[in-house]
Amino acid sequence: MGRIFLEHIGGTRIFSCATCYTILTNRTELISTRFTGATGRAFLFKRVVNLTYSEVQDRVMLTGRHMVRDVSCKNCNAKLGWIYEFATEENQRYKEGRVILERALVTESDGFEEHVGDD
Ligand SMILES: [Zn+2]
Repeated sequence: MGRIFLEHIGGTRIFSCATCYTILTNRTELISTRFTGATGRAFLFKRVVNLTYSEVQDRVMLTGRHMVRDVSCKNCNAKLGWIYEFATEENQRYKEGRVILERALVTESDGFEEHVGDD
């Protein structure tokens, strides 16, 4: 539910660390923008690279109990969000192995935009 798979989109939006601009993921990995983190709006991604992970923590959230790890930028060590290791609620299982990046801690920019020419 709420899981969208995009094989390819024309033009790629890149998400990078807001502190050091290390590339983390792109728009094709984005599952949902309707999450909330410590700093406000947060995004759920299928796959994010260039991260370091904390020890597993047991955290009770609005959507139930989850085992999570905090994730930080591999390059500058800035905290970026967390990864879901395990969800106890059946309807939250789709989040397992997925990564939350907080909107305020990442920068979204144009990657290699493919323009459809009409000139
Ligand atoms: Zn960084």
